[in-house]
Amino acid sequence: MFHPEILAVQEAARDPETRHLDGCPALVLNADYTPLSYYPLSVWPWQTAIKAVFLERVDIVDHYEREVRSARFAMKLPSVIALKSYVKPSEHPAFTRFNLFLRDRFQCQYCGVGKDLTFDHVIPRAQGGRTTWENVATACSPCNLKKGGRTPKQAHMPLHISPIRPTSWQLQDHGKSFPPNYLHQSWRDWLYWDIELLA
Ligand SMILES: [Zn+2]
Repeated sequence: MFHPEILAVQEAARDPETRHLDGCPALVLNADYTPLSYYPLSVWPWQTAIKAVFLERVDIVDHYEREVRSARFAMKLPSVIALKSYVKPSEHPAFTRFNLFLRDRFQCQYCGVGKDLTFDHVIPRAQGGRTTWENVATACSPCNLKKGGRTPKQAHMPLHISPIRPTSWQLQDHGKSFPPNYLHQSWRDWLYWDIELLA
């Protein structure tokens, strides 16, 4: 899968017919026309999208102006596709650095700053703390350093919010405040983020 931020470097302002093929990923919707996944955003490279079209696994919802041709056919590259059969979304998101930061709204859980972020074992590993949703919190480097190998209580550094294992819905809700940098205009109708946030 592409990460939306990688696409941000590509020119996306307009949608010329000469657009580079690598700049034409398709947003993948579930059969209910909601994105298959938000984090990472479900986008497929154009080759995968075309293959799925020919295998009749997806419907084309919208397309780029960019065309691909062979001796026998020409078609505009799909920009939004929807699966024909519904895939049940997983209730719990993957335990990744990005999802952890998103759960904590990209804020240090000790002092609230939003830069120089890393993650902190609430109960330090040296004291038997594990690397799980419930024992890892977003922290800025200075707080992480200050806390060192101590628990929040030992360090007198209370957490703003006790870490929990989030559901996909919770992350999706937090994600409304953090839209990806790159969205093709044909994707916008299908995403959950409010258009105002993108202005
Ligand atoms: Zn901090």
